[in-house]
Amino acid sequence: MDARIVLLGAPGSGKGTQAKRLCDKLKITLISTGDLLREAVRNNTPLGASAKEYMDAGKLVPDELVIGLIEEKVRGLKGGFLLDGFPRNLEQARKLDTITPLNMAIDLEVEENLILDRIVKRRICQQCNEVYHLKARPPKNADVCDKCGGELYQRTDDSEATVRERLKVYRERTFPLIKFYDDRGILIRVDGQGSIDEVYRRILDAIDKFEREKGGRPPAP
Ligand code: AMP
Repeated sequence: MDARIVLLGAPGSGKGTQAKRLCDKLKITLISTGDLLREAVRNNTPLGASAKEYMDAGKLVPDELVIGLIEEKVRGLKGGFLLDGFPRNLEQARKLDTITPLNMAIDLEVEENLILDRIVKRRICQQCNEVYHLKARPPKNADVCDKCGGELYQRTDDSEATVRERLKVYRERTFPLIKFYDDRGILIRVDGQGSIDEVYRRILDAIDKFEREKGGRPPAP
């Protein structure tokens, strides 16, 4: 069965970084609403123009805009996918169920006091969206992406004030999704603290354990 995964977790929990690695490993398509919206803002499309003020304020972009974006992406897809940043509230999760139900929801759990440090030191590649951290994962050359040579930038919504608002939105609107997917029996909780490699390993182990328990398979050798 194709993997249809959502990666849950607060802003700064490492979703973007882990999402890219997981998609390479599992050979599935990454769909990040944050990346798609930032691209729309950069290209000054009508969607970008409508979304920008919400994003800069750390608020959620209205459901109808984001759901339209996801519907277009998911319907055209063959094979599995991983969603990063969608769904972000219960309305989006219920709508997604009618488009394509998920079979795994991975929650990356990180204490809130670590999050601010992670986000404020975060840098992103303008071209390929690769994520760096000035201390935990610095680029080899300042402000240049190791992978594609693109210029690195700091997200405009990564300022301390906006991050606090994004955390509040997360607690109020997104956190209830953990119970929503737990009730469906597809929630996988993973400790998101530690190095990028440690967390990545933990996620792969947790997926393997989940699949074994669902399918009654023996442990991987
Ligand atoms: P992210 O890169 O996932 O942190 O998303 C950055 C910003 O894009 C968020 O703070 C929201 O303003 C907007 N955004 C991303 N995904 C969604 C979504 N599913 N629903 C509403 N707004 C979103």
